Amino acid sequence: MIRGLLRGNVRLNLDPHGSLRRFFGHNQIMKRSLSFITIMLVLLAMLAPATAAAFERCLSQLRQQASDRGVSRAAFDRHTRGLAPDMDVVGFLDAQPEFRTPIWDYMAGLVDEERVADGRARFAQWGPTLAAIERQFGVDPAVVVAVWGVETDYGRIFGRRPLVTSLATLSCFGRRQTFFRGELFAALKILEDGHVAPERLVGSWAGAFGHTQFMPSTFRRLAVDFDGDGRRDLMDSIPDALASTANYLQRAGWRTGEPWGVEVVLPAGFDARQASRRNKVAVSEWTRRGVRRADGRVLSGGGRQAGLILPAGREGPAFLVFRNFDAIHSYNPAESYALAIAHLADRIRGGGPFVTPWPTDDPGLSRAERREVQRRLIERGFAVGEIDGILGANTRKAIREWQQSQGLKTDGRAGQALLRRLRGGG
Ligand code: CA
Repeated sequence: MIRGLLRGNVRLNLDPHGSLRRFFGHNQIMKRSLSFITIMLVLLAMLAPATAAAFERCLSQLRQQASDRGVSRAAFDRHTRGLAPDMDVVGFLDAQPEFRTPIWDYMAGLVDEERVADGRARFAQWGPTLAAIERQFGVDPAVVVAVWGVETDYGRIFGRRPLVTSLATLSCFGRRQTFFRGELFAALKILEDGHVAPERLVGSWAGAFGHTQFMPSTFRRLAVDFDGDGRRDLMDSIPDALASTANYLQRAGWRTGEPWGVEVVLPAGFDARQASRRNKVAVSEWTRRGVRRADGRVLSGGGRQAGLILPAGREGPAFLVFRNFDAIHSYNPAESYALAIAHLADRIRGGGPFVTPWPTDDPGLSRAERREVQRRLIERGFAVGEIDGILGANTRKAIREWQQSQGLKTDGRAGQALLRRLRGGG
């Protein structure tokens, strides 16, 4: 889903203010800020009316197109009247990741003890609903719960931007306007059909919303009403959201009763160029090539087609992945994402961590450890913003400043070594 390309980028890497720093350089910003602010204010004063006028013209075009796509003029007018564009989202669309997250940081934050424990609690709490969902869709309920945990931390972090504003802005400015117009019309149709209340339709800057972050067009194709109230409500009905996720995975080719994959170890001298999710061969062929299960058990299912992935290269954990890994991958097309979901599902079911460690001497941090880093930076007078366990632009900046004050490499990364140093009173 295209959504993933847009949104995954943001969650992993985005520093929305990074581009400003790249343009002007860190130290130059303050020196130039006065004249810069003056110029920007003048430019904004000149540009704002032009932007507003362009947006208005664009909306009147969209009004016609929306009607052709089944959105009534009344609904279009009701939900776009007085709408002002949110130009921030256009900036997010074009922002380049400033910080490249290593896979071990990504996994350490997404599959930590907290998210595993929360997942087990949700699994127990929603047991009868999940069992009914499994009966209807044939999808592993632990994977459904894991999607919920990774997408919104089980409904805690939805995104707060009004969808219609974001999507209308992206329909009128920036690249990919055609794509976002389709999403805007789908969002308006959701409102017109009364599935979600207008003030509740909020989400990510790119338009993903609800417990498991569906795009509006995906909603229209795949959302289901599972609690039987006649509405498909992915914001306020957990049964609807979880069943819709199971429906998505079923349509993406989920095979009932099959695992997603298995951790393996490679023989000495193994040619890493054989690794690919897409070029699948039979498990028996991988066995012939010397691939073994990492836990020492016998690799079963010899006829099953499997790809091999090496998320951190030849020296890190290795996995044979089956058809169900591809189904998860389609939800958000990144192997690291699919692996996080798959591994979290295993952990929720009681499984342990990977057998082979990540090839690093400085492993990543859980969210509890990230909060500790933030707290210790604040104690030393560095501004990180909110203590939320999220290593966003502010925290990265504070880390770089602290690293600089310590004479360390200023890469903005927080791993176990940095935490140890902060604990040591450095
Ligand atoms: Ca419902």
